[in-house]
Amino acid sequence: MERLTDVNMGIYTSFRTGGNADCMLIPDTPEELAEALREIRRSGSPFVMLGNGSNTLFREGGFHGTVLKLGPSFGEIRREGNELVVGAAALMSQAANAALEAGLSGFENLSGIPGSLGGAVFMDAGAYGSEMKDVTVSADVVTADGDALRTVPVEEMDLSYRHSIFEETGDIVTSVRIRLTPDDPEKIRRRMKEMLEKRSSKQPLQYPSAGSFFKRPAGHFAGKLIQDAGLRGARVGGAQVSEKHCGFVINRGGATPRDIIDLMHLVQNTVFDQTGILLEPEVRIIGGPEE
Ligand SMILES: Cc1cc2nc3c(=O)[nH]c(=O)nc-3n(C[C@H](O)[C@H](O)[C@H](O)COP(=O)(O)OP(=O)(O)OC[C@H]3O[C@@H](n4cnc5c(N)ncnc54)[C@H](O)[C@@H]3O)c2cc1C
Repeated sequence: MERLTDVNMGIYTSFRTGGNADCMLIPDTPEELAEALREIRRSGSPFVMLGNGSNTLFREGGFHGTVLKLGPSFGEIRREGNELVVGAAALMSQAANAALEAGLSGFENLSGIPGSLGGAVFMDAGAYGSEMKDVTVSADVVTADGDALRTVPVEEMDLSYRHSIFEETGDIVTSVRIRLTPDDPEKIRRRMKEMLEKRSSKQPLQYPSAGSFFKRPAGHFAGKLIQDAGLRGARVGGAQVSEKHCGFVINRGGATPRDIIDLMHLVQNTVFDQTGILLEPEVRIIGGPEE
């Protein structure tokens, strides 16, 4: 198992900025992961699980604990009939390409989400009317205490908009079984291409970000509320409300985690004052207050 100390988390997160974590453990098998979890439990120090870091921001005060990240062996993908068993560290784009190669449809709308399968099932990630809930059959996990390996069927995952049971249990997902439908690979390829073109025409993909910063409040769109509040292009230091898509907070260059969090507060306060709606971040903010 690889061990790193004093790790710059900006390198591991899509905002490309962040404080340091005291320690990072990178297990490469479920058994090593279980061992890492038991070691953390014995030490009594806090830990966070990190996938591809596309929905996570580490504050600049740093994280005084252990970051767990799955090693490359967790990136394997295999086909079983109309199902794919996808390692939790594999990226959504890799799962989508494997589905395309296998002539299996159902993952096209999810193909442009820049997360890992583990992060996607944890968040019940979704796009353009599809979500992980629609394709997931089960997930293999190591329990949070590191004592057991088990398979959790989708019925027990409580998947709903940006939520799963894993938020409560703290179980670590090691692989996800997804069920798809056979279709003509050319049609799948075309749908994937259209989806990616749609994303790049609507989203500021040339800048680091964590995608939509805020959750969708019931009956509204966060981006529309932010735009109507006059915040298109609003800046704090190197952080900016994207002019292309107001739901995105982007790093225009040199943004600190504090810039991003100050901009988050500015957006929350302005939108709340004008509408009475409190925007909740979708992004996971890790670590103590900045020093
Ligand atoms: C440009 C851009 C576009 C985006 N578009 C979308 C979109 O269309 N739809 C959407 O839903 N999201 C979108 N996102 C957000 C993000 O990609 C998703 O939330 C994604 O599912 C996060 O996956 P990750 O592996 O990067 O998770 P991370 O940010 O690493 O972690 C997110 C959460 O998942 C947990 N987690 C990660 N791996 C595991 C695991 N193996 N077991 C248990 N828990 C785990 C972490 O502890 C953390 O709480 C976008 C982000 C960006 C940067």
